[in-house]
This record gives sequence, structure tokens and C-alpha cells, in this order.
Amino acid sequence: MTVRTRYAPSPTGDPHLGNIRTALFDWLLARRFGGRFILRIEDTDQARYAEGGVENLMAALRWLGLDWDEGPDIGGPFGPYVQSQRLEIYREHADILLAGDHAYECYCSPDRLDEVRKAQQARKEPPRYDNHCRDLTPERRAEAEASGVTPVVRFKTPLEGETRTADALRGEVVFQNATLDDFVILKSDGYPTYHLAAMVDDHLMKITHVLRDESWLPSAPKHFLIYQAFGWEPPVFAHVSRVLGSDKAKLSKRHGAHSVLEYREQGYLADALVNFLALLGWSLDDKTDIMSRQTLLENFSVERLIPNPAVFNAEKLLWLNGTYIRDLPDEDLADAVLPFLERHLG
Ligand code: GLU
Ligand code: ZN
Repeated sequence: MTVRTRYAPSPTGDPHLGNIRTALFDWLLARRFGGRFILRIEDTDQARYAEGGVENLMAALRWLGLDWDEGPDIGGPFGPYVQSQRLEIYREHADILLAGDHAYECYCSPDRLDEVRKAQQARKEPPRYDNHCRDLTPERRAEAEASGVTPVVRFKTPLEGETRTADALRGEVVFQNATLDDFVILKSDGYPTYHLAAMVDDHLMKITHVLRDESWLPSAPKHFLIYQAFGWEPPVFAHVSRVLGSDKAKLSKRHGAHSVLEYREQGYLADALVNFLALLGWSLDDKTDIMSRQTLLENFSVERLIPNPAVFNAEKLLWLNGTYIRDLPDEDLADAVLPFLERHLG
């Protein structure tokens, strides 16, 4: 089996540290096992699209030396690698789910969904779709179709039973189906949601290991249900720990965390940042801090990812960077310093 991993960013702004750390882990896993690292752009949320987002992502990956084997700029056997260029593929797959009674069309207006949500709030219930369109009679469905409303497609979540998900770090996590709602897989504008698009692409692109942010863990049962409905074997999932600031709050600029390219501007070396990022949620042996890229490549493994939140420590990064700068051979140091001098001298 060839290991195939992917970094699947949404180009919604400059790549931040937590984000690029996932790319590093995916890259290390692929490179360690002689596999392939794929770059896929998940741009299905058109409202959140940021101008220049894809260019910045690629620039950040290149600066850090995280090269990809298949991607939007170089193509590959499973392209296109930009989700907005794959809409027909998602439509076809939504149709397969519709035909297999794993999905249905929902005609509910935003106003109706709003009312449902408010009523649930008033009753202190968690917000969820009320399955209004799940079992429409043929007459009601014909009426809805005739009304000219473009429906969304919802996944038909089993009403009972449980869904077992597997996470390489946490083992089996079981979810009660009754707590999941009938989530949207295809929007009325023809764009898929993450749930459909990422699962279809991971399958078609033969991804073997999905290393992704822990924030996706609650959605994992939806993803396993989608795999089941298609009759596909899911890849190995590993949900990488969150990165928190030193005060244990969500990481932000306040903690000294900036976008990846800002670190380059500030004089951080790519190798120092790679070393630092590798320690956010992974460890070699619980004590080694300084690790060359080679050491990382020879030792990285999913088994040593740490499920607990990682804490961002700006001083440690500064210290690591100093260590790397002092270790640079004179010639490399001169090369590294030159752009800063040139800028300074105007
Ligand atoms: N586009 C998703 C994100 O940026 C990708 C998550 C994943 O790796 O599956 O959050
Ligand atoms: Zn509906």
C-alpha cells in the first residue's frame, strides 16, 4: 500500500500556524513512508473565499519545504485538485445517495428553518433540522418541485442505532445516531458541503490517512455514515490536537501567533519553524526539543501524535530560532541575512 496523505486547506485567509502544522504532519507521514502528499484546495464556501489565499498557501508550503506530488498547479492522476472545478463529481455522488435512499431533497425556506430553530431555542433544545422533508408524500414533493424552489440535498441519518468511528489516537468513538441531524450535503447553489466533498475526494484520490484538526471530531460520525452509504472503506483518521495559547485559550495573534509568512518576514528560519511546529502535538520521546528535518523524517509516526491540546509558546520558538541561526554555516547565514540588510538599506 502506498501512503497517500493530503493537505486540504480552505483559502479563507493567510495560513496560520495550527493550520500549516497539519500540513507538516501529513507531509512527514507521506515522506517517511515513501508515499505521496497531495494538495487539494477546498474552496466550496464561496462567501469566505479570500483573494490571493491559494497563492499564499503555496508560498507558505514552499518556504517551509513541504513539497507536494499532486496539486492544482502540477496536476496528477486524480485531478482537478480544486473543489470548485469538481462540482459535477459531487452532483453525481449526491445523485447516487438520492437513488439509494440515503439522501433526500429539502425544500425548506431559510425563514422556515429560522422558525424551527427559534422554537427549539425556546424549548432549550439543541438546534437541528426537524426532518420536515424527509418523508414528504409524492403529492407534497410534486408541489414543492413545482414551486420553483431549488432544493438542498440532505443526508438521511439513521434515526436509531449508533455509528462507530475510529480515530488513530483515540480509538473507537461511538455516537448515537439520534443525536445527529439530517445534514446538508449539497447546497442549493450546486456547491457541496465539506461533508460530501471531502469524503468523495478522499475516496477518489485514494487517500489512506486523513490527519485533520480536532475540530472535525464531532463530525466524524457523519463522515463514517457517508462512507457506509457509498459502501467504501474509510481511510485512517487521526484528529490532530488543538493548539492553545499559553493561557489555554484559543490561539490568536495575542499569543504571538501570526500567519506563516509573517514569520519569514520577522527573520525566522524555515527549519526552526518546522521543528517548532512538529512539537505542537507530536513528540519524539517526550524530551528532545531540537530535531533536524532528517530526524523528523526518520521518526514521524501517527502513534506518537498527542491527543491533548498543544500549547503555543512564543519564547520557545524564539529560542529555537536562535539555536538554528547560531548553527548556520557562515555562507548560509550571509544568505539569510542579506534580504534583511537590503530592505534595511532601502
Ligand atoms: N478544508 C478543511 C479545513 O480547512 C479541511 C479539513 C480536512 O483536513 O479535512 O478545515
Ligand atoms: Zn426541508
